[in-house]
Amino acid sequence: MNILLVGAGLSGAVIGRRLAEAGHNCRIIDSRSHIGGNCHTERDAKTGVMMHVYGPHIFHTDDAEVWDYVNRFATFMPFQNRVKSTTQGAVYSLPVNLLTINQFFNRTMRPDEARAFIETEQADRSITDPRTFEDQALRFVGPALYEAFFKGYTEKQWGCSPRDLPASILKRLPLRFNYDDNYFFHKYQGMPRDGYTDMIAGILDHPGITVDLDTPFTPDMQAEADHVFWSGALDGFFDFRLGRLGYRTLDFERFDYDGDYQGCAVMNYGDREVPFTRITEHKHFSPWESHQGSVCYREFSRAAGPDDIPYYPIRLVQEKALLDDYIALAETTPGVTFVGRLGTYRYLDMDVTIREALDCARGFLSAVAAGERMPAFAVSPR
Ligand code: UDP
Repeated sequence: MNILLVGAGLSGAVIGRRLAEAGHNCRIIDSRSHIGGNCHTERDAKTGVMMHVYGPHIFHTDDAEVWDYVNRFATFMPFQNRVKSTTQGAVYSLPVNLLTINQFFNRTMRPDEARAFIETEQADRSITDPRTFEDQALRFVGPALYEAFFKGYTEKQWGCSPRDLPASILKRLPLRFNYDDNYFFHKYQGMPRDGYTDMIAGILDHPGITVDLDTPFTPDMQAEADHVFWSGALDGFFDFRLGRLGYRTLDFERFDYDGDYQGCAVMNYGDREVPFTRITEHKHFSPWESHQGSVCYREFSRAAGPDDIPYYPIRLVQEKALLDDYIALAETTPGVTFVGRLGTYRYLDMDVTIREALDCARGFLSAVAAGERMPAFAVSPR
């Protein structure tokens, strides 16, 4: 069959590869001039530093099949994300762990003591069913840590009050009563030695795949394909005819430094008064390399306008209603499957994106074998 995949990011590449291996003819188009979507990496010409052009991407997963998959196409180097936060005039360790708690409260508590202290002296135990981000924070860490580490950062990141955000956003972050400062708790973690773009180029390197860059989708392309996998924005496929789904976009303000600017890859800024959310120093994402020069990004978050790159889907009540309408529209549109972060309007980590892409390709191959129609969504965006 002739398959058209719109978007040369992780979803398009992984689905394309599986279908090409099964003998299908896959054309992947992307309106950008590079593959890799927002995972795109490239070496900075001046310093030689591997840049995460659209912000930091750290690979972490518990999924052994996904880990094996990425290791087929890239050499992974050990990498653990150890984030720091500058807030209220001091630097602390994240995620909130025993060092953070002891330093913040100027104490020397052991794990059990810290747990009891947070639970009885900090946490708001009157909150029995935390639904919002703020409730979740007040219930589990209490107001002092919430104000220092989460409130200002989250207002900057999401442009709204944490009272209007779901608790699920905060649940991404662990709270630890030991000195483990690894930001992620997944079994497999690492960084592709030669960058994500090189890894994705490896996935795309198959005789059954052709890639056309600088090529926006046009409706006539659909007529030439037996099936389309769309990893662009769900509302974009329909020319935003029902309205626009909300996204946050990021602005990166680059600055160069001779030497080591901040001593770590990611420094968050918890204070509301500091206009950016974090500074990333890209050479620290490749700690096995050595560079004198350094490139940093100050990261600013704001509402995405029509011409901005969408990053984080905003899934509040209003967006969910519009999302439902687009889902209904997609479900009555034959011949197209919507995939990935933008196609399903969910904030997906890379490992989940790959897992879903592998499952989606499997589902498609079974549907073809059974003579059945492939649904609009392999995973429900709801
Ligand atoms: N967050 C925060 N303070 C921090 C880091 C994160 O309040 O120092 C909040 C913020 O709302 C963010 C959420 O926790 O959106 C999830 O954080 P994570 O690091 O997973 O966000 P990512 O940068 O991966 O989107």
